[in-house]
Amino acid sequence: AVTAADKDHPLTEEDTRATLRALRAGADDYLTKPFHDEELVARARVHLRLRELQDELRDKSTLLETLNRTDGLTGLLNRRSLVEVLGAEFAKCTRYRAPLSLVMVDLDRFKKVNDTFGHPVGDAVLKTVARVIRAELRACDAAARFGGEEFALLLPQTDRAGAIVAAERCRTALEAARVPTSASAVSVTASFGVATWPHPQVARLDDLVSQADQALYRAKSEGRNRVVAL
Ligand code: GH3
Ligand code: MG
Ligand code: MG
Repeated sequence: AVTAADKDHPLTEEDTRATLRALRAGADDYLTKPFHDEELVARARVHLRLRELQDELRDKSTLLETLNRTDGLTGLLNRRSLVEVLGAEFAKCTRYRAPLSLVMVDLDRFKKVNDTFGHPVGDAVLKTVARVIRAELRACDAAARFGGEEFALLLPQTDRAGAIVAAERCRTALEAARVPTSASAVSVTASFGVATWPHPQVARLDDLVSQADQALYRAKSEGRNRVVAL
């Protein structure tokens, strides 16, 4: 509230009441005439400063939101976020009878990469893997870092055959990728487990996840660097 009392214009009871009414009605500020120019300018500055602080706060909260949803190393969705998206997609796809596929990905013999080249190189490989996989997927697909060297791909509107094609595309792209190090270029392969709804063994979301896990397990035991779909 702004007042401009001086000895020629003393602040009256009515001025104060008008100020209060205006502020209660939602005004950010209130000046009663006559006022000093400098006071008007000073008050405008206060509001500009408040506006800047509000903008900063909004930017920070957007940043926090992003950090909360993504994996710090790779920039992919984190596990929590993928589980959230998966729940929503599963509900939507089963409701509208559209297919949905989930692909679990686990890097092959990744411990050896760390042991041979060191953890920082291992991390660089994980970043490359994320970039390569993301580039092979559609914009509407979701890719997440599910755990240490495990990734999950969510492919909406994608049936079993389509998911196998997508997984195979990721697999060959990964196989071809090289991560440069000071010594030599490192390459990795990954195993892929594909699960799809609809499927006789998939009634609930948990079934989809465990089928993808089982498929991945089979891809590992059948020799790695391959795609297995149940
Ligand atoms: P497999 O083909 O059976 O999957 O063999 P693997 O060595 O990949 O599997 P295992 O589960 O034995 O090891 C996973 C390794 O992944 C353990 C750890 O060295 C590595 N790892 C997990 N998280 C990270 C990470 O954030 N950074 C790096 N550099 N390595 C990680
Ligand atoms: Mg693993
Ligand atoms: Mg592994």
